[in-house]
Amino acid sequence: MLTLLLASLLMTITPPAAEWRTPFESGGGNTTATHAECIGYYQKLAAAYPKQLHLAEAGPTDSGQPLHEVVLSADGDTDPASTRRKNRRVLFIQNGIHPGEPEGIDASMMLARDLVQQKSLQKLLANVTVVIVPVYNVDGMLNRNSTTRVNQNGPAAYGFRGNARHLDLNRDYIKQDSRNARSFAGLFQKWQPDVFVETHTSNGADYQYTMTLIATQHSKLAPALGQYLQGQMLPALYKGMEKKKWPMTPYVDFEGQTPESGLRAFLETPRYSTGYAALFNTIGFMPETHMLKAFAPRVHATYDFLKIMLETVGQQSAAIATARAAAAAEVTARTTFPWPGPSTKPNTKPCSSAATRAARSPAR
Ligand SMILES: [Zn+2]
Repeated sequence: MLTLLLASLLMTITPPAAEWRTPFESGGGNTTATHAECIGYYQKLAAAYPKQLHLAEAGPTDSGQPLHEVVLSADGDTDPASTRRKNRRVLFIQNGIHPGEPEGIDASMMLARDLVQQKSLQKLLANVTVVIVPVYNVDGMLNRNSTTRVNQNGPAAYGFRGNARHLDLNRDYIKQDSRNARSFAGLFQKWQPDVFVETHTSNGADYQYTMTLIATQHSKLAPALGQYLQGQMLPALYKGMEKKKWPMTPYVDFEGQTPESGLRAFLETPRYSTGYAALFNTIGFMPETHMLKAFAPRVHATYDFLKIMLETVGQQSAAIATARAAAAAEVTARTTFPWPGPSTKPNTKPCSSAATRAARSPAR
């Protein structure tokens, strides 16, 4: 009991000094950073903590401005090959693919700061290197407005979903029509992360939970990796969120208008982030906060989710390494790749049926 008490005291986070408050923290809880504020904040962190936090450009985007990567490591090692030799797991967090869903942008700024400033958190980087893309859809974030997500409960102003060429980047992972996607692929392949998280806000159904979760479909991963995800990782994430008073539930689709019509799990093909990640034996997650909850609890729930993810990857580091190695061996030896996805038969139903269903399906 005493040990537990001491452990929780050691994890206590002291409030940041005034000069390190993010726009979200100093803006009354209904403000998200602009692109300039976000990158400027990471520049300031990188200058103040050059050993632990490294900021670099990571290729072009369709906006004309570069993509950025932030690397947090215990000893300042930003080399992926060396990181792998040190048997460290890589947790890759991507924010702002849909900049009107910006909780992850603000939560990651706070988490990066706390990881370098709070002594109690620094041990989380002992065997995990964290890579953050502060903003993926730079283009959309620059297109700031207050009217394209009017049915969402804050923030007051935010970016636009499409990129500079009106592409939805969460349909472009495998197709790579955008420069953003090509730069991302370079970054992803460079790091070959163990775990990938892309932060979102829901667009549709109403329910009690502040946080919901799309995990990559375990049944389409190699067996060792799927079993690990289902048996060890997901229970730890759900338990961790429950302890933080953010009970979480899987994000589901309805067959019709109501849950009574049946629930469907989402099969994420490689056009989506987690589907792309799964092609490389990377476990992918899309946390989706509930658009009808206020912005502040959505940011805090995202912060806690990312921290719990980091703790879990560290605690289960050996199991992740074993499962991924087994998955790589299994995929290398495989000679056929049966696709269990939707039938390729032409859709002969009236087009209104498919169109209505698409309209009801919450977007990711
Ligand atoms: Zn989204």
